[in-house]
Amino acid sequence: MYVFAEDLRGEGADKVLDRIAGYGVSSVTVGAVHHGSLDVTPHGLSRLTLRQDGAHFVPPSELFAGLRLAPVPGFTDALDGLGAACESRGLQLHGWTVFLRNHTLGSRHPDVTVRDCFGDRGSLTALCPAHPDVREYAVALARSVARLGVSRVVAESLHFRSLRPQRSFVPLGPMDHYLFGLCFCDHCMRRATDLGVNAEVARDECARIVGGVLDGDPAAQGEVTRAALTAYAGPDVVAYARARSETVTTLVSEVATAVAEEGSRLVFVDYTGSVKGYRDGLPTPGLAAHDAWQLGVDLVALGDLVPAFGVLAYARDAARVADDVGAYLRSVGKDREVRAVLRPGHPDSDSTDRLVAKTRAAKAAGAQAVDFYAYGLVPHPVLERITSALRETV
Ligand SMILES: [Zn+2]
Repeated sequence: MYVFAEDLRGEGADKVLDRIAGYGVSSVTVGAVHHGSLDVTPHGLSRLTLRQDGAHFVPPSELFAGLRLAPVPGFTDALDGLGAACESRGLQLHGWTVFLRNHTLGSRHPDVTVRDCFGDRGSLTALCPAHPDVREYAVALARSVARLGVSRVVAESLHFRSLRPQRSFVPLGPMDHYLFGLCFCDHCMRRATDLGVNAEVARDECARIVGGVLDGDPAAQGEVTRAALTAYAGPDVVAYARARSETVTTLVSEVATAVAEEGSRLVFVDYTGSVKGYRDGLPTPGLAAHDAWQLGVDLVALGDLVPAFGVLAYARDAARVADDVGAYLRSVGKDREVRAVLRPGHPDSDSTDRLVAKTRAAKAAGAQAVDFYAYGLVPHPVLERITSALRETV
């Protein structure tokens, strides 16, 4: 069960953990480092929760000595005593860590954020995984969460992000959105150039295409695929996009190694499944595992480096959940720990039966665990469905 630090503060850790243990859940994934957001929280201390970017513990200062980026302090006591409280209830504790989505750090250090094909740093929320300071921060952050004594460090946003503006009255197609979201900072350009890619041509092509749509050209529709992108933007852009996986693979590898050295295990969660199905539980046709490359996530390469993966199976349809889990396992390797993340209520699950069916489908497809997202966002009666989902699919 995913749990936010605010949930523990609101209801009290003992009450929350008792309730979760009562559902038959075996592990709690607590938001140790989170990003800012405004959420409806049906049973929270307030019914609307404004979260800030923050680390909800005191990071060991020696890990960040000499680094430019350090965690933004959140509720520094949120995780105090949580390990023992979980252990006494037979629950494993996992540390959920948001890495590169951090508006506070990006605002303080704009040079570490992504830069688009026009040379602008329009969104200060996305830290660029190619920037050396960001990479040092990510490794130290992972180490500090692992030192909390968690059995898993669950990594969110440890890859490139897609562009998701709150307002756009320009009919940008999926491929325009994708091109607009590519980072062309100095570090990304250099890494691509080192791999033999003509990075400047790629950047100029992106600016020409996206600029044209912003000036009124008709946008191409249809999903982003390698073939469609090659036809739309040319081989240099596709080569540039694919070169990003080296940046991500090497970073995730460093983070996984650091976590293992601290005696914990990395669970890598790529958010492709969320991009596809977050809004309505009706994901676009391509499976998450097949489209993860767009964010620089090379699952085949990561399968050799990372022990565990989370699949955001944000879908209403049980068959789709099974397909996503199956495709993931084929990419990362059948011996990897693959965890399916399900939403027990709106917009993915309209009944207990549906949640049971999806839990069963995930397990039948080979998922070693099913995680539920997330305690504070879901009404208590809907959370009760988890009891059936776990009891009926043992
Ligand atoms: Zn970059």
